[in-house]
Amino acid sequence: MNFEVFVLGTSGMMPLPNRNLTSAMIRREGELFLFDCGEGTQVSLKKLNLKWKRINSIFISHMHADHVTGLPGILMLSSQVDRDTPLILYGPGKLKEYVDANRRILDIYINYEIIVKTVEEGIILEEEEYLVRAFELNHTKPCFGYVFEEKKRPGEFHPEVARSLGIPMGPMWGILQKGESVTLEDGRVIHPSDVMGDLREGRKFSYVTDSLYVPGIAAHVKESDLLLCEGMFTDDLRESAREKKHMTASDAARIAKEANVKQLGLLHYSPRYSDYELRYLLKDAKKVFANTVLSKDRMRFSLPLKD
Ligand SMILES: [Zn+2]
Ligand SMILES: [Zn+2]
Repeated sequence: MNFEVFVLGTSGMMPLPNRNLTSAMIRREGELFLFDCGEGTQVSLKKLNLKWKRINSIFISHMHADHVTGLPGILMLSSQVDRDTPLILYGPGKLKEYVDANRRILDIYINYEIIVKTVEEGIILEEEEYLVRAFELNHTKPCFGYVFEEKKRPGEFHPEVARSLGIPMGPMWGILQKGESVTLEDGRVIHPSDVMGDLREGRKFSYVTDSLYVPGIAAHVKESDLLLCEGMFTDDLRESAREKKHMTASDAARIAKEANVKQLGLLHYSPRYSDYELRYLLKDAKKVFANTVLSKDRMRFSLPLKD
């Protein structure tokens, strides 16, 4: 079961020749989930050959131009293909107004349903196998971080145990694997726990940008397999980062360490740093959290299954 995260852009404030605006996408079992959509997001999607028509959910952190100006294009393009499912956008209050105004002024022809949901802290989307939570960040505007979390999976099925208990191979095995008990012909009741190992942990991805460092973030992103987090400035610009309500790379690393995440990917870099100078951000972060990666545009992270 694949779970990949594609970094579509890593720049904050403005796009640069080699850095699109901050955006990321999950591809899981053929489903796509987009996080933020600055201008040019489509270009990365195209370069990665990702099928944007499969995007069903878009999560917007906040209503700053560098996170939403790519949306009208995506809405327009989505009507070029046959969709039978609605497109659901999640974000702060003004998102609906923004989407409605764009549709009206640009006369975007839309032949599918668009639903805009105003986010509050808590679970905002729940399906059989996964859920998405939003939590408040501290920025110059209402802003949310997002956590995409798989639910626990059934444990491993042990056919040799099933055989030894005299459970005939066939439909009963399937029922047990789905987590339901079965009754054998001789009246014995077999529970899933008799033939299966412990529940297996799901995978967790967190997306955090733009924000001041606040201690509460760590609890939300705890034990993430991958945390993509704003690391906009180097340590020497700490004061200016605070004023603008942004994080330094070492702030991001601090969250990663406190939350005991597996891997941290930095993004939302200030345009003041050349591509070469981004290494200073990485250096700052690594002092605090060793498993930090300097995300690059169109980088792909794969989150392996846990057993
Ligand atoms: Zn931003
Ligand atoms: Zn912002």
